[in-house]
Amino acid sequence: MSERRPPWRVGVMGGTFDPIHHGHLVAASEVASLFALDEVVFVPTGNPWQKDDAKVSPAEDRYLMTVIATASNPRFSVSRVDVDRPGPTYTIDTLRDLRRLRGADVELFFITGADALSAILSWKDVDELFDLAHFIGVTRPGYTLSDEHLPQDAVTLVDVPAMAISSSGCRDRVRAGLPVWYLVPDGVVQYIEKRRLYRP
Ligand code: ATP
Ligand code: MG
Repeated sequence: MSERRPPWRVGVMGGTFDPIHHGHLVAASEVASLFALDEVVFVPTGNPWQKDDAKVSPAEDRYLMTVIATASNPRFSVSRVDVDRPGPTYTIDTLRDLRRLRGADVELFFITGADALSAILSWKDVDELFDLAHFIGVTRPGYTLSDEHLPQDAVTLVDVPAMAISSSGCRDRVRAGLPVWYLVPDGVVQYIEKRRLYRP
């Protein structure tokens, strides 16, 4: 029987996903397993945030690549809350919107890589953030995972299989004519080709 019983444990994986790659997917899958999550919602950002120097692909392309990459996993879903909200994306708004849409009986687990976790204290409304979700910091090759200065009970650090993949690395490879097969899901390779993303 697949009756939904509260609390529904929902992981939230926010990102620019330009493009989504296997580092994102492995992190989400590992956290879902370790924390017995019912679902992981991937939430592509709307307008560029803290990335104003770099050109970010249209939200619609990033959203579609995220759908393509996650479609085969019954526990993975994609939310448009950040894509559809005008203005820059703040995690506080993402979590407020998801809580409003999903109801009070969901428990939210915000998944973030080691690089983004260290920046968390500079985020908007940091105290309310920790009320809305439990934060899970995951290891990422090239970065040190540390919860220094973060409230102990609000954040859990976990080891995930090391995937030395970044979206910027994937973009650089496409620009240089190098393959991104096996760094991103097959459908994403084909979507990048079809839309001619990241070309000079
Ligand atoms: P970019 O190079 O453009 O910054 P990115 O690879 O860092 O892209 P983002 O969309 O910025 O991807 O990241 C979304 C989230 O996924 C962040 O919390 C980031 O720390 C995490 N993340 C990205 N890549 C990995 C990885 N290889 N292993 C673990 N976590 C990752
Ligand atoms: Mg990043």
